[in-house]
Amino acid sequence: MTVHQAAVAGAERLRDGGIETAWLDAIVLLCHVLDCTKERLFTEYEAELDNDTIVAFESTLTKRIAGLPVSYIRRSKEFFSLEHYVDERVLVPRPDSELLVETALRLARSDPSVRRVHDCCTGSGCIAIALAYERSDLELSASDVSQDAIDVARLNARNVLGHEIPMWRADLLAGLTAPVDMITANPPYLTTAEYERLTAQRWPEPQIALDGGPDGLDTIRTLANAALDCLRGNRYLLCEAADAQADSVREIFKEVGFARVETVCDIAGHRRVSIGYGAESTRI
Ligand code: GLN
Repeated sequence: MTVHQAAVAGAERLRDGGIETAWLDAIVLLCHVLDCTKERLFTEYEAELDNDTIVAFESTLTKRIAGLPVSYIRRSKEFFSLEHYVDERVLVPRPDSELLVETALRLARSDPSVRRVHDCCTGSGCIAIALAYERSDLELSASDVSQDAIDVARLNARNVLGHEIPMWRADLLAGLTAPVDMITANPPYLTTAEYERLTAQRWPEPQIALDGGPDGLDTIRTLANAALDCLRGNRYLLCEAADAQADSVREIFKEVGFARVETVCDIAGHRRVSIGYGAESTRI
């Protein structure tokens, strides 16, 4: 069987298994088992595959049809142009969260006094790691309530940055010993009903990373309440949420005492990132 024949047959199996992105997934999985780039794959369409490769490819197709995301099968996901290790212990990084990184970088550029940045609900660590990669002069730290996630995030820091950054298991901001200038977070923000719809499809990502309670805002409320005590002066809380939650997040930020709230849209115009600006008159 040639590379091209395997790709066509694989895509057909995935399509029959109900996978919408069948062709793309087949190509990516074939590249994975062959350990090659797409460009290389396309130039070697007529090469014959050995039996072991065909068996390995079949096994990835079976996993994909059973509902595993391609990123879990490959054990890898690109985020902010950096390759991160991922498995069932962590949420797969979403391109949406790159807006959070871009916004944090923009703020840090416009306010050079920003030095210390803490990323909570860090999961795979991708947000903290992308920030540390882009701005090695910033002091990054990260936390997550899941020890499994911290293990993955530490591995990613070592792999992507070549060194560790301080990371610990904690509920939100617990364990921060000194105030920081900026807090970033991609907390769980699906409503429980939305999460349950995913469970019905046997969604493999951790519930703790997705389920934000009845209105999806439980973690954001707790985080906003805790944040001002951990932020130095007129500084920043940046939080990702769904577009439909933007007004509620603004209300929450205002209620807990942020002086000003800005909502940042992605290129599709969805209100995805909320920035809370603390005033000098706040509790720190
Ligand atoms: N954007 C994610 C999703 O739709 C949710 C991520 C989160 O809850 N932090 O699956």
